[in-house]
Amino acid sequence: EERQRIARDLHDTLGQKLSLIGLKSDLARKLIYKDPEQARTELKSVQQTARTSLNEVRQIVSSMKGIRLKDELGNVRQILEAAGIEFVYEEKEAPKHISLLNENIVSMCIKEAVTNVVKHSGAKVCRITIQQLWKEVVITVEDDGSFQCKEDRFFSKGHGLLGMRERLEFANGCLAIDTAAGTKLTMRIPNDSKSKEKDGSR
Ligand code: ATP
Ligand code: MG
Repeated sequence: EERQRIARDLHDTLGQKLSLIGLKSDLARKLIYKDPEQARTELKSVQQTARTSLNEVRQIVSSMKGIRLKDELGNVRQILEAAGIEFVYEEKEAPKHISLLNENIVSMCIKEAVTNVVKHSGAKVCRITIQQLWKEVVITVEDDGSFQCKEDRFFSKGHGLLGMRERLEFANGCLAIDTAAGTKLTMRIPNDSKSKEKDGSR
């Protein structure tokens, strides 16, 4: 759906503007000796159209960016600080093979996991680890509070944990929940195959 929306946006904005630029510059070329004044007006309009297109490209690109992991970790730090929960962050190995889409998914999952820690856990400390493995990126969000629900009812009460699991599975990843001591969520999401090929070393 997102690809279709972006394709539509590109067609309706850039596509039209580029044809207009083509038509107008062709016209200007024909008019350049016959009617230089009119040619100048057409060229001005070409310039204006190019400028508008550039703005539109910027808008489309920023609507595609989504949430970067780094930004989300910054948000999380602020939320935990405001809630008086100590934040421990451990980056075992920077996730360098994650696609933008998967980075987005993981960011949303971290946001929900930390919201749950603040809402339900009563924890003093929340620890997040991120690790790049051979085939996947593994993220854990762990707290030292207590899980507020029975083992078999993980996904029954709210939509948060269920939504996390669905998003991760959509990306061929998975979610594991361990409530033995506090709550520990382990999220796994596969590497971007293209980025791995480029790198060659892993
Ligand atoms: P929603 O996320 O839809 O706003 P929610 O947070 O209640 O609602 P989930 O995120 O799916 O729903 O979590 C389900 C339940 O699991 C919670 O209601 C809570 O009882 C328990 N839970 C989840 N995370 C934690 C946690 N870190 N500590 C303690 N209990 C938790
Ligand atoms: Mg929740």
